[in-house]
Amino acid sequence: MGKILSTIVAFILAINTNTVVYEQKSIDKERQSRVVLENEIQESVVVDEIVAIKSPTISYSSSSSGWWTYPSDIKGTTRSGDDLLVLVNKEYQLPSKYTPSDLVSASLSGIRKGESFLLRNILINDLKELVTAATADGIDLSIRSGYRSYSTQVSTYNYWLSVNGGSISATDKISARAGHSQHQLGTAVDFSSSEIQDGLGGVFSSTKASVWLANNAWKYGFVISYPSGYESVTGYNYESWHYRYIGKTYAQEVHTSGIILELYLRSKN
Ligand SMILES: [Zn+2]
Repeated sequence: MGKILSTIVAFILAINTNTVVYEQKSIDKERQSRVVLENEIQESVVVDEIVAIKSPTISYSSSSSGWWTYPSDIKGTTRSGDDLLVLVNKEYQLPSKYTPSDLVSASLSGIRKGESFLLRNILINDLKELVTAATADGIDLSIRSGYRSYSTQVSTYNYWLSVNGGSISATDKISARAGHSQHQLGTAVDFSSSEIQDGLGGVFSSTKASVWLANNAWKYGFVISYPSGYESVTGYNYESWHYRYIGKTYAQEVHTSGIILELYLRSKN
């Protein structure tokens, strides 16, 4: 993934240097700041964005049933951020000051790579059960993203905005604006697996781990947020790796009803 990011950065720099005349100093400075930002993103962020960049052919017109673009009337979330059923999407935004009250190291759940990420304590026991059950079935799971702060989301969004030459519409398809990311809740997990060397993104859908999660995650309170075939409803590309914890009782309800998480949360909003 580092290679892909480097390629993207190199490509952008190549375009810049071909079309605009900068003094060598400023180019070096820009290169330096991009590399720093790239490292930050690799440490704290994800793939949601990178994968989407690899699938630029998917597009939805503004007249489609859903929305890729944000509505003009952005509302504050109706439930508190700590409420497992709070609806956070392109219409409902978390307060900038919202930080989950019980963040702990994801490693407490026993998931591989957990030491690098924070999650809410409320889900740790259930995630531990999930990982244990997966392991018993011969499935390896790792975590590649957990809690992401409002300010991290600001820099993430701005990074992709610069990569997209300042195009807001292009950026909105691949990166959530601050306050609109489920990762700010501390209950969203981006999974990966040793099957793909803990790689990030679309390739995860080809793993046994993704099939296992699709069949079993709900038993432990986790539900996929952006399922395949519902892109115009959720406003996001299919993300086989991104799950959100809503607790066992509600997850069972979602599973039994067959409704997708986005519509379930809207019905509770
Ligand atoms: Zn995610």
